[in-house]
Amino acid sequence: MESRVAIAGAGLAGSEAALQLAARGIAVDLFEMRPAVQTPVHKGGDCAELVCSNSLKSLKPESAAGMLKAELAALDSFLYARALDCAVPAGGALAVDRDRFSAAVTAAIGAQPLIRLVRREVASLDDLAGYEAAILATGPLTSDSLAASLGRALGADYLAFYDAAAPIVMADSLDGSVLFRQSRYEEGAGDYLNAPFTKEEYERFIDALLGARRIIAREFESRDLFQACQPIEEIARAGRDAPRFGPLKPVGLTDPRTGRRPWAALQLRAENAERTAYNLVGFQTNLAFPEQQRVFSLIPGLAQAEFARFGVMHRNTFLDAPRLLGADLRLRMPADAAGCPVHVAGQLGGTEGYCEALRSGVHCALAVAAALRGIELPPLPRQTAFGALLAYATDPATADYQPMHVNFGIMPPLDPPVRNKGERYRAYSERGAAALVGYVAALEQVGLMDRGRAR
Ligand SMILES: Cc1cc2nc3c(=O)[nH]c(=O)nc-3n(C[C@H](O)[C@H](O)[C@H](O)COP(=O)(O)OP(=O)(O)OC[C@H]3O[C@@H](n4cnc5c(N)ncnc54)[C@H](O)[C@@H]3O)c2cc1C
Repeated sequence: MESRVAIAGAGLAGSEAALQLAARGIAVDLFEMRPAVQTPVHKGGDCAELVCSNSLKSLKPESAAGMLKAELAALDSFLYARALDCAVPAGGALAVDRDRFSAAVTAAIGAQPLIRLVRREVASLDDLAGYEAAILATGPLTSDSLAASLGRALGADYLAFYDAAAPIVMADSLDGSVLFRQSRYEEGAGDYLNAPFTKEEYERFIDALLGARRIIAREFESRDLFQACQPIEEIARAGRDAPRFGPLKPVGLTDPRTGRRPWAALQLRAENAERTAYNLVGFQTNLAFPEQQRVFSLIPGLAQAEFARFGVMHRNTFLDAPRLLGADLRLRMPADAAGCPVHVAGQLGGTEGYCEALRSGVHCALAVAAALRGIELPPLPRQTAFGALLAYATDPATADYQPMHVNFGIMPPLDPPVRNKGERYRAYSERGAAALVGYVAALEQVGLMDRGRAR
């Protein structure tokens, strides 16, 4: 009898999980509520839409983000391969043309006969009854109705709070006589545009930023924010100089007009291969739209900036993973709550970041495929990037859990310790690569991978 799996959400994690399951001969109903029902930040109807930055972070093998990419490559991630196809210049990072990327993912899903893309909201866990298994991959902006259904089934607290997305400006509205093209420390031959501030320009900008009108300010002040996604005005509120040591840091940059490092600098990164639009790097914001126009036009070179998209506020919904999820990302809840076993992939499951969502989509698909075939899922070594994140996110000892990116801080310490930072990162990376080889071999042994090719 054909196994059919339901996946709620054709975002990054859900699309990846669907393609992984189908590659292993498992039929999938992939439910996506867009375009009929939109989230506060998605724009269109394509699968795997990137809602904020177009960067998938560093490609350097000796970084945690680079290690994660090596895992995605070794496990034949479909969306990572599409991201590489759609890359735009971004120094040592992988950034993509977001429209081409989502169109490519949507086409891959459309071309896979085992996937049925159902344009409908999964409004409740009851909608999953009758499937062999289900994966919830509805992300940080899970619809209210499904969130309420989860809340009723779990009877546990899970958090919803706000994050912020950076604005995008049109390239031809920028002042090329002020902005200069350079990557920090000259790395990557000038993929970024830089807006250099003098001390006076910086002070004027900070005054305007601090005085500007914000949206839903009260919720923002009363809730925690991801450190990695702090709005620029919140950073400035922490201290007038804080932006100069954060998103506006000028280190590694030399203004060709003065031959010196500017007092502060904003970096702008290309949004597409044609470089027709740029995002303001690290400028997630909660300002009202007219205020963004007014305040951000005080940035040198942006006086006439035309905004392709203003920064926006958004909700962030995620489960208390340490108490609700196991290493196979299966949700612990009453057996009859959904009528089938439910796994959780992506940000709803408590990881944060685009590549993390892809990797959790792969992991969830492997776990579901193993369960349907009645085989044991090989344990994921903690020395790998996602293994470390999974161990952290599902450790019942973790109190007050906040979703996080992969990082070296959660990896098991090296034995013996390595003092030099560069050497330490290399050692983490080499140790992770060796563990990954063993993991892939174990997947092959149980028939979940075939000589490095997903099936
Ligand atoms: C505004 C914002 C900015 C962010 N910026 C960054 C960033 O710059 N870099 C980064 O690495 N990460 C960023 N993140 C986090 C990033 O979005 C996530 O890590 C990643 O997209 C999560 O992938 P996902 O597959 O879990 O969710 P998503 O990619 O959001 O996919 C979830 C999908 O589920 C659909 N859906 C929701 N509810 C239902 C339902 N009930 N039925 C059917 N479909 C449903 C949605 O329409 C969506 O297509 C940001 C998040 C937000 C919200």
